Amino acid sequence: MYSIGIDVGGTNLKAGLVDESGAILAVERIPLGVFPGAEKFAEILADLAKAVMEQGGVTKEDISYVGAGIPGAVSGGTVLYTANIPMKNVPLAELFRQHLDLPLLLGNDADCAAVGEWSCGVGKGTKHFIVVTLGTGVGGGLILNEKLYTGAGCGGEIGHIVICEGGAPCNCGRKGCWEAYASATGLIRLTKEAMAERPESALHAIAAEHGGVEGRTAFLAAEAGDETALAVCADYANYLASGLVSLINMLHPQTVALGGGVAAAPEHLLLEPVRKLVAEQCYARHTDQVPAIVRAELGNDAGIIGAAMLGRAI
Ligand SMILES: [Zn+2]
Repeated sequence: MYSIGIDVGGTNLKAGLVDESGAILAVERIPLGVFPGAEKFAEILADLAKAVMEQGGVTKEDISYVGAGIPGAVSGGTVLYTANIPMKNVPLAELFRQHLDLPLLLGNDADCAAVGEWSCGVGKGTKHFIVVTLGTGVGGGLILNEKLYTGAGCGGEIGHIVICEGGAPCNCGRKGCWEAYASATGLIRLTKEAMAERPESALHAIAAEHGGVEGRTAFLAAEAGDETALAVCADYANYLASGLVSLINMLHPQTVALGGGVAAAPEHLLLEPVRKLVAEQCYARHTDQVPAIVRAELGNDAGIIGAAMLGRAI
């Protein structure tokens, strides 16, 4: 049997026909454009699933279900709300079934990435596994006892643990959230603050060369030996480890995978110092069960694969 995974982005929909090993056998993509309303959206998802079946040379009878990763909160077959698409309390699975007679399973997009890594990537074989995505924000997906954990729908919003009371403002309205420090956005702010204090730093030349400060600017300058950049990377690793230790103390996963653009940083500047800090600080250091901290491996495919594997985790 096969399943279909659909990754619903703010501007694009990507669907893949996926086999039981997690291999993507066919892919279809369409732009979403202006949101056409929930009814039409359900029809578009069904059409996309049909297109991917046709491309893969399979029929509805070969498919166990269609999974969709949604940027927002879901509960059962209902979309509770979405971040960049106007949907609230939409019975999407029911609407979908009017166009294609297959179950539609729903997951939050970050949760789908975690399900993907857990079923087919670096989390394979674990019972307790967490993915932390370091992008514009800090996203997360929790697999506990081999099931995706979302609480009543919004669980796993790990970016909004406060690590610095009264600290930098966060998009959620609070101050000092982990996301305000450990996201790419937070790293860019730390880099700019260091640059303002250190006009002699190589960060300036490297930023200018790449058309502005990016998440990788500090890592590039640190690799060239710049001391200010090395200090920024060390601060960033500290902030990242701070939230990770809280998360690990609360949930004690076997493995934590870091994904998103920032996770691609050189191992000795990010993963190695973070592993060391976690090993020094987490409660599990008293046992021989300190979680492995690894880089996520599925990249952009995690969303499709995870949506297609949702049936194993919910
Ligand atoms: Zn926040």
